[in-house]
Amino acid sequence: MILLPLQLQNLYASNQPDLEFDKSLAFEHLEKYDQLSPLLPGSEKSQDFLKYTKKTLENSLWTVEIQSWEHASPQVTLNNLIARKASQEGNSKGIIILGAHYDARIWADKDPEVNKRKDPVPGINDGGSGVVVLLELARILSIPEGYEVWIILFDAEDQGGISGWKGGQSGWIIGSTYFVKNLSDSDKNRMKLVLILDIVGDYNLNLHKERSSDTQQTNKIWELANELGYDENFLDQTGSSIIDDHRPFIDAGIPAVDIIQQRSKDGYDFFRWHHTTNDTIENVDRESLSKVGRTMEYYLETLELDPMSSKLILSFLIVSGVIVLSITLVFVFRKKIVQKNV
Ligand SMILES: [Zn+2]
Repeated sequence: MILLPLQLQNLYASNQPDLEFDKSLAFEHLEKYDQLSPLLPGSEKSQDFLKYTKKTLENSLWTVEIQSWEHASPQVTLNNLIARKASQEGNSKGIIILGAHYDARIWADKDPEVNKRKDPVPGINDGGSGVVVLLELARILSIPEGYEVWIILFDAEDQGGISGWKGGQSGWIIGSTYFVKNLSDSDKNRMKLVLILDIVGDYNLNLHKERSSDTQQTNKIWELANELGYDENFLDQTGSSIIDDHRPFIDAGIPAVDIIQQRSKDGYDFFRWHHTTNDTIENVDRESLSKVGRTMEYYLETLELDPMSSKLILSFLIVSGVIVLSITLVFVFRKKIVQKNV
């Protein structure tokens, strides 16, 4: 550690954005998720967690709705939670969606111990991590001017490839597919961007850019993460296309970004404990939650979805200023010549 003179420390501090994301509070939500886990679709524990999140979000002045429906295969009641909040200046610029799945996989089919493969996955990283980052963001976020933000917790993202589970895309992403299918045209047309968080709590967080995500906004998020010093976690490399809750939105023509760990630093698909009974709270790092949460906070609070239009306005203002100044100068100069001649 090097001790910098106070002035230098202040200079460094003043260059850092003032971010409020609190990793301890995010982790407290994760402890609640852990107490109730596994949150299997249609379970009472799942209902209890939704009650907890609804209350948490309402305390931060979000308007919360539960979207429930009967799924056919298997027959189970599923629930998406939708929380809405508009900026003080209104919502004329449209809707931004922040989403994560909260369900845990019913079978730990990648468990190294064969006799545990029909046990449920606790889902603390694959399920809980994205959710708790959104819950802490909900507490501190200043809604970008002119926008409305919807936080959505999707049910039944993670049941793909399990016998009896149909719908969505081969049993995956059932909740987000249902949500997009049931959007009104007017809401759909107002959706400007979707950001999905999934598997963001690994020790040694290792994020590649997801291939089917909106390139411009992904690059912007990665740039800001770099600015915050997280370049070892947000890698400047494109990974693969993932089936995740951003897909139904992309298919509906809405730009979306999926922030998901696709490979661990030691080479496992997603993370070492993916779809095993070891996806537990001991294997989630609050620093990783903090890095993703702070990057999201920084990105949303400096949001510029249409940089061309603001550049055009700036150019217009500069050109108009120059024209007005030139006319004024010509006028003043001519007046002086006329005065001299008189
Ligand atoms: Zn999963």
